[in-house]
Amino acid sequence: MTARVIGVLALQGDVPEHLRALEDAGARALPVRRPEELHQLDGLVIPGGESTTLWRLSVAFDMLDPLRKLIASGLPAFGSCAGMIMLADRLADGAAGQLTYGGIDMTVRRNAFGRQVDSFESDITLSNLAAAPRAGLDGSDATALRAVFIRAPWVEENGENVAVLGTEQRTGRIVAVRQGQLLATAFHPELTPDRRIHELFVDIVKDNT
Ligand code: GLN
Repeated sequence: MTARVIGVLALQGDVPEHLRALEDAGARALPVRRPEELHQLDGLVIPGGESTTLWRLSVAFDMLDPLRKLIASGLPAFGSCAGMIMLADRLADGAAGQLTYGGIDMTVRRNAFGRQVDSFESDITLSNLAAAPRAGLDGSDATALRAVFIRAPWVEENGENVAVLGTEQRTGRIVAVRQGQLLATAFHPELTPDRRIHELFVDIVKDNT
C-alpha cells in the first residue's frame, strides 16, 4: 500500500521537525502553504509557533477559509501547541479578534502554564492511545511520555465527543485530545525521539482513507 501523504502547514513554526517525525512514522510528508496544494493531502499537521501569527498569515495566504472547510469536512489534522490552538472551537486569552480553524469542541487557554515556566519538560500520563503498546515492547512505560512545553496552552473545557489522551502529571491539566480524525497536543512531540503521537496520527490518516 502506498504511503499516505501528510502536509505540514509551512506558514510559520517548527516545520522540518514534523516532516522528519512523519517520515519516521511511515508517511510521505511535504510542506504546504498555498490553497492549491491542499487537495493532494490525506492529512495535515499544524505545527507549533505562534497562533496569532498563524492566524494572520492564514488570512494573508488565503488559507483560513479553505482550511476551515477541509477540516470541517473531515480532513484528518494534528495540531501541536499553536496548532492545538488553531484546532480549538473556542479560545481563552486569545488576542482581540483572533480566529482559529476550529474542529475540536474544546476551549483552549493560550499561554496557560504561566510566564515563569515559559518552557519546561514534564511527563504526560497517556490514556486511550492506540499506538501505546508499540512503546511498551522495549520494556518502557507505555502509559508515560516525556514532553516538551513551550509557552504552552492547555485544554480548559472539552465537549463529550472529545477523548482525553494525556494529562500533564504535575498539574493534571489536559494536554492531549482526540475528536474523531482530529488530534491535538499542547506539547511538541516533534522535538523528542518518541514517535507514538505521530504514529497515532498516521494510523488515524490510514483509517480515514
Ligand atoms: N503561546 C503560543 C501561541 O499562543 C504557542 C506556543 C507554541 O506553539 N510553542 O500560539
